Amino acid sequence: MSSAQIQAQLVTAVDANWKAQVEWLGSLVAFPSLRGAEGPCQDWIAREFAARGWSVDRYTLTEVSMAHLPGFSPVMDTDYSKAVQVVASLRAPRQERRSLILQGHVDVVPAGPAEMWSSPPFSPTIRGGQMTGRGANDMKSGVCAMVFALDALRTAGYLPASDVYVETVTEEESTGNGALSTLARGYRADACLIPEPTGAKILRGTVGVMWFRLRIRGRPVHVSQSETGTNAILSAFGLIEALRGHTRELNERVKRDPWFSRIPDPIKFNPGKIAGGDWASSTPAWCEVDCRIAVLPGMSLAAFREELTGVVMAAARQDPFLAESPPEIVWNGFQADDYVLEPGSEFEAAVRAAHLRVNGEDPGEVILPAVTDCRFYGRYHGIPSLSYGATGTGSHGFDEAVDLDSIKRLTLTIATFIADWCGVRAA
Ligand SMILES: [Zn+2]
Repeated sequence: MSSAQIQAQLVTAVDANWKAQVEWLGSLVAFPSLRGAEGPCQDWIAREFAARGWSVDRYTLTEVSMAHLPGFSPVMDTDYSKAVQVVASLRAPRQERRSLILQGHVDVVPAGPAEMWSSPPFSPTIRGGQMTGRGANDMKSGVCAMVFALDALRTAGYLPASDVYVETVTEEESTGNGALSTLARGYRADACLIPEPTGAKILRGTVGVMWFRLRIRGRPVHVSQSETGTNAILSAFGLIEALRGHTRELNERVKRDPWFSRIPDPIKFNPGKIAGGDWASSTPAWCEVDCRIAVLPGMSLAAFREELTGVVMAAARQDPFLAESPPEIVWNGFQADDYVLEPGSEFEAAVRAAHLRVNGEDPGEVILPAVTDCRFYGRYHGIPSLSYGATGTGSHGFDEAVDLDSIKRLTLTIATFIADWCGVRAA
């Protein structure tokens, strides 16, 4: 079979499976696979994989020792006995070409107030060629495409001629420990494709990201005498302002970086969650703020933590109460390095060639001020890894939606890529 003939068969196969594929995506998006609640979604996926004849490894993060590995992020308030991971193995009798990991995350971020959505976030709806629902774009689109790319090969009468691992992980939106666990468990390949929704662009690089919690104390008094106490919520404002100011300085420093200087202000700081106080008529005795900041590229995580600590403590010294009762900083969640896939890899060339074949033009490339799981494979294990995926809108926002046609092209592109990278054999 020539590659042109195989390509024609794949086009027909993706078409033939398309209706079932859209239904499958709808089923996947309907799972409210929020952090700690991914189990039912992952169990459904494990059954789907087993039904395809793939050998399935289902485990939880409590079963894997990985705290000693590079890239591990510490966690609090999260029960890892509920963090289900799934790896399907499609082993070839001989390695005719190169092996591959296809990886996607199924954890989704909270939907926010449901009344702000035009349709309920976990009841996927299709309008104008778009599916709306939390996770439809980020990244159940990609999970669906990678599974149906293999289905298309099978429908066309083929299996990959080298080993393929299909991994659905959790914790991508908070730590990356799901991805790390697959490596801790020993899964390796010659490349790893993570179809995050990049708008059919090659993802060249991602910043590092850090989460931390600020724990601030106050001296509670009756509000009628508020001048005699302190207010932990107002004290938190001071620390947040100091971090915002520092972020502006970091965005000046990043202008010296060869990659991340290409995007404006890649260092984003977000106080993302706040809690504090016990009573409207008492000045608050405590406040906790969960923050996310991008790491200055090229800086070690330890040095960056030290720098942030210095900024917070300098601001605390300006506050008479905090100067005596300094805030605590708890590193809880992402401690993620940046990652750049240097141009010139055979892997990238193969993904580009598949895109060209399906779309008739070269793909663009993008650098993102956010993380993906690619760093675990590419940065720590020498497995070239990139993201390339569907087109959509509203990730982490209201009315998240994905363009279904982009998923169809993505499915064909991944199938085309597998046929080239892994080779094919008769099913
Ligand atoms: Zn994602």
